[in-house]
Amino acid sequence: MAKQTIPNRIILPEEQIPRQWYNIRADMKDAVPPLLNPGTREPLKEEELYPIFCKALAHQELDDATRFVDIPEEVYACYKTFRPSPLHRAYRLEQLLDTPARIYYKFEGNNTSGSHKLNSAIAQAYYAKAEGMRGLTTETGAGQWGTALAMACAYFHLPLTVYMVKGSYEQKPYRRGIIQTFGAEIIPSPSDTTNVGRAILAEHPTTTGSLGCAISEAVEKAVTTPDTRYVLGSVLNQVLLHQSVIGLEAAAALALVDEYPDIVIGCAGGGSNLGGLAAPFLRDKLTGKAAPRILAVEPASCPSFTRGKYVYDFCDTGKVTPLAKMYTLGSGFIPAANHAGGLRYHGMSPILSKLYHDGWLEAVSYEQTAVFDAATTFAKVEGILPAPESSHAIRGAIDEALKCKESGEAKTILFGLTGTGYFDMMAYEQFLSRTMTDHVPTDEELAENFPED
Ligand SMILES: *Cc1c(COP(=O)(O)O)cnc(C)c1O
Repeated sequence: MAKQTIPNRIILPEEQIPRQWYNIRADMKDAVPPLLNPGTREPLKEEELYPIFCKALAHQELDDATRFVDIPEEVYACYKTFRPSPLHRAYRLEQLLDTPARIYYKFEGNNTSGSHKLNSAIAQAYYAKAEGMRGLTTETGAGQWGTALAMACAYFHLPLTVYMVKGSYEQKPYRRGIIQTFGAEIIPSPSDTTNVGRAILAEHPTTTGSLGCAISEAVEKAVTTPDTRYVLGSVLNQVLLHQSVIGLEAAAALALVDEYPDIVIGCAGGGSNLGGLAAPFLRDKLTGKAAPRILAVEPASCPSFTRGKYVYDFCDTGKVTPLAKMYTLGSGFIPAANHAGGLRYHGMSPILSKLYHDGWLEAVSYEQTAVFDAATTFAKVEGILPAPESSHAIRGAIDEALKCKESGEAKTILFGLTGTGYFDMMAYEQFLSRTMTDHVPTDEELAENFPED
């Protein structure tokens, strides 16, 4: 084994938690296409977002110009309870793969919510409280976002209603329990508490729900309840902005050990962890300072980047949200019932979509058995039980490291380990008992939901 001159875990001093978020849009030569009002198809004005988002967040959503945004003191104080997150050098994984590559991963699962989502949850809850809101609504699929936001709302004493995709609600009682412990109300979606929920139930009475449908319900609830706003844990520009703390810390920690990534890899659901991790490296790429490869890894059963269309689409099934130009499988798309690996959203961050369209980042997809194979391999050598979502990035990193073994190149690989998988043991059990199956949608299946150009 190579002599370990670099520590297993590189932990920045607390003073190096970023004081500002970085807004990648300020360095993009071609602007991200604007959100559109679905009625007029005109670009949305900030005021039009005020019924949905609180003002500071509506501003961040549309702000293409401000490069660095100050992190409010109260948010910073919360960040200090779990940041900086560690950057690990995966010595034991490198040894197992017998690769000359140096593999690093930024681990965001070290907080009770178990994922990176807390970085944005705290910011969104803070601004809502600061603007005098009396409640928030949101949706959650696998449950990480609902948990993170419930924690954040508990910090800021804000009531929260979580619409949880019914399938997850039924399969993950402990997830529910944590969200309730932090004081949030939780409603399985679709529900009879909203018009859109009732309409979906009338048409599909036995549906187990979808993220897109839970979003419609949460938005409707927010706009029809006084002093209540809606918050979303991924996809949005504001969320990528908040998640830039991941990348800023990772870049600083790598610099401490004189490293710079040749490849940055992240799993991609709505794009927030990858957008955050890759932000400073994409900045170097956009400004011509360096040329790292940026790689998104997604499930073959929900392949927004690799098989989606780059068009304007709704962010939700009920078509109550603004239109965003993004890689999408169509707002009616629901992954096959056997899909257990998360990352099931139909669309993709408009920022990452634009960058992908323009060739600044690449994407690959994997079937879920290959992803769980990587997850169990990683768990055994690195001693962390990864979330299924994160395991897509592990799969991508392992395959890049194996390519280095072929070519003999000692590349530096950085990937995002976004969270832990303690609530996903049903999926792990399916994999271990070999009852997990793969499903790759056919072109005909995908065509059923594509929006028109
Ligand atoms: C939500 C989630 C993801 C996917 O969301 P992105 O916005 O694409 O980052 C990935 N990993 C974990 C652990 C998550 O909770």
